[in-house]
Amino acid sequence: MPHLSDPALSDAALPVAVIGAGPVGLAAAAHLAERGLPFVVLESGPVAGSSVRQWGHVRLFSPWRYNTDPAARRLLQAGGWVSPDPDALPTGAELAEHYLQPLAELPQITPHVRYGAQVSAISRLDLDRLRTPGRESAPFVLRLEDGTEVTARAVIDACGTWKTPNVLGANGLPAHGELDAAAWIDHALPDVLGADRRRYAGRHTVVVGAGHSAATTLLSLSELVEQEPGTRVTWAIRTADPDRAYGGGDEDALPARGSLGSGLRLLVDKSLVELAAAFKIRSVRPLSDQNRVELLSSRADGSLWSITADRVVAATGYRPDHSIAAELRLDNDPILGTTRLLSPLIDPNDHSCGTVRPHGVDELTHPEPGYYAIGAKSYGRAPTFLLATGYEQARSVVAALADDWATAREVHLDLPETGVCSATLGVRSIAESFGLAPDTPAKLIAATTRLLPEHATAADAVMAAATELGIEPAAALRLAAFTAEQFDGAPA
Ligand SMILES: Cc1cc2nc3c(=O)[nH]c(=O)nc-3n(C[C@H](O)[C@H](O)[C@H](O)COP(=O)(O)OP(=O)(O)OC[C@H]3O[C@@H](n4cnc5c(N)ncnc54)[C@H](O)[C@@H]3O)c2cc1C
Repeated sequence: MPHLSDPALSDAALPVAVIGAGPVGLAAAAHLAERGLPFVVLESGPVAGSSVRQWGHVRLFSPWRYNTDPAARRLLQAGGWVSPDPDALPTGAELAEHYLQPLAELPQITPHVRYGAQVSAISRLDLDRLRTPGRESAPFVLRLEDGTEVTARAVIDACGTWKTPNVLGANGLPAHGELDAAAWIDHALPDVLGADRRRYAGRHTVVVGAGHSAATTLLSLSELVEQEPGTRVTWAIRTADPDRAYGGGDEDALPARGSLGSGLRLLVDKSLVELAAAFKIRSVRPLSDQNRVELLSSRADGSLWSITADRVVAATGYRPDHSIAAELRLDNDPILGTTRLLSPLIDPNDHSCGTVRPHGVDELTHPEPGYYAIGAKSYGRAPTFLLATGYEQARSVVAALADDWATAREVHLDLPETGVCSATLGVRSIAESFGLAPDTPAKLIAATTRLLPEHATAADAVMAAATELGIEPAAALRLAAFTAEQFDGAPA
């Protein structure tokens, strides 16, 4: 075991430990490699982008131009890599295959990546959280699940939030019985129309949540309703009014979206999805003899309300796992679980992903010197994280670790247009999946808005607009349903 008095340990030769070989962890590795700083990437999965690959069938809503890190691009291009079409929208699988994998395989990076290396705890060598003397110069110790340890001069924690989804319980605690019912509950974003189709075809699924993931799953399930007899879908949300869950109205960045109300309501109006509003899950009960599960909520008058389902999709957002850093001195915002300086910049009540101010090392600093959470984890429970933001965080933090403070503090951020990152771009990705031109959503929304006064429901106006524009009705409905701005974990 190394000891503090070991001269090698106070030496800058110790590596920077990067937790996670996702897009942001690998971006940090690229910046470290460019600056010639020693580093080790500890990735729990067997390959680069292990979490991204789990939602590989989902198309990103931001195009390639925003999805690659500048330092990574420089290293890749020097090795002959050709950047994909900057305007195309990759799937998660394509992001992993065409970008993350080649990046992780670069000679400057690959010798420093350890797969199957799950970090279970981080501390300072021989110092617990209470001890102050010598803390700043004491190396970090990262304990891996197999009991071995890695010593590092700094830690860049880019482990994301994908592995720690929120629970079904409306109060943030697991609903009573939720763990026992795990066999009936799927993580967000199952591949409903592909690999997982058989689990949902001809069955009743309850989708819980009001964010981007819930919307994506509801859209796919609504297709299955039309294709597979007996398929039923219920959309359970905590709020009484789905329109409120999505914002909208006068302040909406897209006026047409405000007039359409909650986009997913279109699927409800067309009876493709049943809405269970104000359904606050308290318990989950497996009905093992029927191979089904019962979700229980209570109504305002105190009476019980139950929904029985074959499958439940929990699309309730994610939360960061700070437990691995419990022996470090973190000062997290009590609501979002981000650093306190970052929290007001990204609060989803005030910001969409396109309105986040550039930020870097200063906003990411904790009382524990040398520990930085970046990437999706840095946003805590805020669902608005974008890769472009994470890449700028990586650049700034690595510059600070290289003692290049001027560069570290010169933060820039080129984000998609204000307010449109998960709405317009999300709609574009759906248009692409139906083989429609990129301007089709805008034309559809304009025509629907014009036709709304002549029709009883927004869904009828969408159908009329689709006929006028020659768009297949099912595709039009799904495009329109996606116009509501959606965030995972929105307080629905
Ligand atoms: C369906 C979906 C679509 C999205 N679309 C977009 C989009 O269009 N545009 C956009 O900008 N953003 C998008 N995002 C948001 C965000 O950019 C992604 O979530 C992105 O993957 C975050 O990157 P990351 O590197 O921070 O974390 P991750 O991609 O989650 O990577 C974390 C890595 O750390 C590893 N890990 C976890 N715990 C440990 C541990 N204890 N020890 C070691 N390794 C560990 C994981 O295996 C994983 O490989 C999307 C997110 C989702 C879920």
